[in-house]
Amino acid sequence: MIALENLTKRFDGRTVLDGVNVRFEEKRISCLVGSSGCGKSTLLRCINGLERFDAGRIEVDGVSLGPTSRGGEDRAALAKIRAMVGMVFQQYGLFSHMTALANVMEAPVHVRGMARSEARERASHLLERVGLAHRMNAFPRELSGGEQQRVAIARALAMQPRALLLDEPTSALDPARKVEIIRLLGDLAKDGTTMIIVTHEPSLVRSVADRAILLRDGRVRAEGAPSEVLSSHE
Ligand code: ATP
Ligand code: MG
Repeated sequence: MIALENLTKRFDGRTVLDGVNVRFEEKRISCLVGSSGCGKSTLLRCINGLERFDAGRIEVDGVSLGPTSRGGEDRAALAKIRAMVGMVFQQYGLFSHMTALANVMEAPVHVRGMARSEARERASHLLERVGLAHRMNAFPRELSGGEQQRVAIARALAMQPRALLLDEPTSALDPARKVEIIRLLGDLAKDGTTMIIVTHEPSLVRSVADRAILLRDGRVRAEGAPSEVLSSHE
């Protein structure tokens, strides 16, 4: 379970998140919606410890993180949270000089110290899972946008995160590729991965979300059934 309590984030004195209170339940898919610039990416980055915040508290499976302070205990919490929470960025962020397979193997080998043979086996299984068994040895530039997005998802899953944060996973894709990713996320949901998906795509919200959350003016303005939250957004 991921809980945000009074999460407050300012950039140069400008308040972007203004006391956000929300819980993301275990094994559920929550979609976070809201206008451009309302702070969705910032919220995800705070959860993953990529962005520090000014007030409030973040809790991930019992590990609690407070506002920016440089204590040793805090750093330990940050490391634990990063190990539990995977993130897929809007712009894939694949290593361009590595094949799809090498991209997926990278963190298990270099961060976890997994043996290469085991990492390779697991990575090829994950790439199969996302429908890329035939493209494992391709480099990112040889892959379509949707394929790159699927490699990025496989790469995040390789660290066996308890929760996966996805920032606009379909935004750069054409309609057919969008459907591909939506189907994949729906599939992953059946495994019980907790997911928070930031998206502007109503079809993604309707097809995969258990719950939707609307962010406006730095606060949660609506949350609940996807169709209801979408209509209050529109
Ligand atoms: P979009 O839907 O366009 O991706 P978003 O909801 O993800 O928007 P954020 O990227 O979280 O929005 O940005 C929220 C606000 O914070 C914006 O006004 C943005 O300009 C500002 N912002 C984000 N990052 C920084 C930064 N590093 N420094 C200063 N301001 C920032
Ligand atoms: Mg964003």
